[in-house]
Order: sequence, then C-alpha cells, then structure tokens
Amino acid sequence: MCTEPHPAARDAAERFLAANPGDPTTYPTISALEDEAVEALGEMTGLENPHGYIASGGTEANIQAVRAARNLAEVEAPNVVAPISAHFSFQKAADVLGVELRLAEVDSNRRADPDAVNELIDDDTVLVVGIAGTTEYGRVDPIPTLSEIAHDAGALLHVDAAWGGFVLPFTDYEWNFDHAAVDTMGIDPHKMGQAAVPAGGFLAREKRVLDALAVETPYLESTSQATLTGTRSGAGVASAWAAMDELWPAGYREQYERSQANAEWIADAFESCGYDVVDPVLPLVAADVPRKTVESLQSRGWRVSPTGSGELRIVCMPHVTRSMLESFAADLESL
Ligand code: PLP
Repeated sequence: MCTEPHPAARDAAERFLAANPGDPTTYPTISALEDEAVEALGEMTGLENPHGYIASGGTEANIQAVRAARNLAEVEAPNVVAPISAHFSFQKAADVLGVELRLAEVDSNRRADPDAVNELIDDDTVLVVGIAGTTEYGRVDPIPTLSEIAHDAGALLHVDAAWGGFVLPFTDYEWNFDHAAVDTMGIDPHKMGQAAVPAGGFLAREKRVLDALAVETPYLESTSQATLTGTRSGAGVASAWAAMDELWPAGYREQYERSQANAEWIADAFESCGYDVVDPVLPLVAADVPRKTVESLQSRGWRVSPTGSGELRIVCMPHVTRSMLESFAADLESL
C-alpha cells in the first residue's frame, strides 16, 4: 500500500534527512513544516485547528488512538471494539497497551455492522474504531452511526483512514470530522499521499486527547512529547509536507480518478475471465482467483498478495498504470 514518492516529496526527504522533529527547539524548521503538514491534513479531513503530528505510519496512529482513549478513561479493564476488517496493528496496540480487543462481525457488504459493534460494547469500552478504506476490500464503515454508538457508551471514536484518507475527499462517503463527531483519525501521507516512508498522520479533534499522550522531556529544551517515537525522521515529515503542498487538492483528485478507473478496468478484466470480483468502491480490487493461478502469476514475476480469505488483491496505487494492468490481464487470460 506504499508507492513511489512524488519527486517533490523525494527531494524534500533528502533535504531533511538529518533533521529530528522530535526535538523541535533544536530543529525549528522541520517543526514548523510539521505544523503546516498537520494543518493540511486537517483541511483534508474537515478539521479546523487540528491537534496531531506526522507519525511513522498507520500502525503508530492506531496505537496512539488506543493509548489516548485508555489514558483518558478511568476504567480498570479497558476494551476497544473494532470491526473484524480492522488492520492487524490494533492487535499490536491491544498487546502493548494491555487493552482487550473485541472484534465485531461485518455486514454482507464487508462494512462494520453497527448492531454487532453495539453488542460488544460495555461500561469498560474506551474506544470504538471505524475504518475509512479497509485494507483488504477498501470498504468505508458507517462512521456517523459508529460515532453515535461510541459516544452513547462514553467512548471515543477513532477513524482509521490510513489508506483511504487521500482518496475519500473526492467521494461522497461520510467519513471525516465534518461528517461525524470523530475524536481521532489516522491518515497516511506515505500511502495514497505519495510521500516517502515514514510518513503517517495522527489527528485529534481536542487538545486534551493529544495531552493524554504527552510525557515530560527533562533533557530537551521543549518540555513535553506526545509522539510514540522519540527521535523521528525529518525526511518523512518534510516529504509529507512537500507532497501535500504539490498535490492537494487537484493532483490527488486526478490520481484518485486514474486509480479508480484502473480498479474498475481490472475488475472488468477479472469478470471477463469468469472470476467473482468484490466491487471496487475505492481503488482496490479483490477477485476469487484460484491459488494455483495466483502461484502461476507469481512465478511470472507478478507481486500479488491474497486477502485473509484467499482472494487475489490488487491495490491500484499511483505506480500501478493501465499498461501494467493490461499486461497483467493478458497473463491472467493466458492462464
Ligand atoms: N490501517 C490501515 C487501514 C492500513 O491499510 C494499514 C496498512 O496497510 C495500516 C493501518 C498500517 O499502516 P503502516 O503499515 O503504515 O503502519
């Protein structure tokens, strides 16, 4: 789910390779760029005055969302409720933070089922998770409904838009801070945002949520730090800033349209070969191709990965071109 960085992002990454935004007093330039990058992410996600930072990726953002919710709630045995479609990073979050992860079934369209989520919630639920662009099928959960469910239970709502966040602004989905009372969000510049790795985004609506993550930093000139990592890559931060400066919004819109058209094209190609296809609602296609055919494709050099249920999955990232897909479809047809 990563891609070739945009040339401007690559250039910025090289220039700030030796800067450390984890020490903002010593590295004020990268720190100022980080503030601007967070502002840009806020604009993209409908959040005025965003609180947040450029993280190492979606995993860190998810861990931090669970950590903030756990720290804010006064609960002895906290639990988090997420759909089974949630990224495996929530398992890591639950493990390192000592929080129980409860996974709710999804509906027939592979979206979080609000009734199933509701059933798992109790007084110890500190966080409900919704996914805006699932890793395996690109599904967008019903965020406004999940937000109501979370807040009725006194929990926070986290939206994982790590992959979907840079394409969803050009769709009609209700997924962001503007559409619902979302508390925290992960959105990764190093995925559809075309920044260099590592560049994730962690956003919070309220300052108190970021404050719940802060620890004192006695040996630095700045007094506290809310990030999970200490020393961080200035390259990731600068490249996130540069990619968004270059591409938001027109460049990202163009890329979304190209990627979505590619996804629909390859979905049709799978269907004309007789395979069942999971409808690509975002630029991600899964098709029920037999394991043997997948192995034959792999032996011809195609890097294709399966879903948990075994479908062949193609993510139409910016480096995936139509001619690449045409050549893939020709190989598929010959098999
Ligand atoms: N969340 C979602 C929805 C993802 O698709 C991914 C990765 O693909 C992640 C989180 C984890 O992101 P990262 O690998 O950048 O930590």
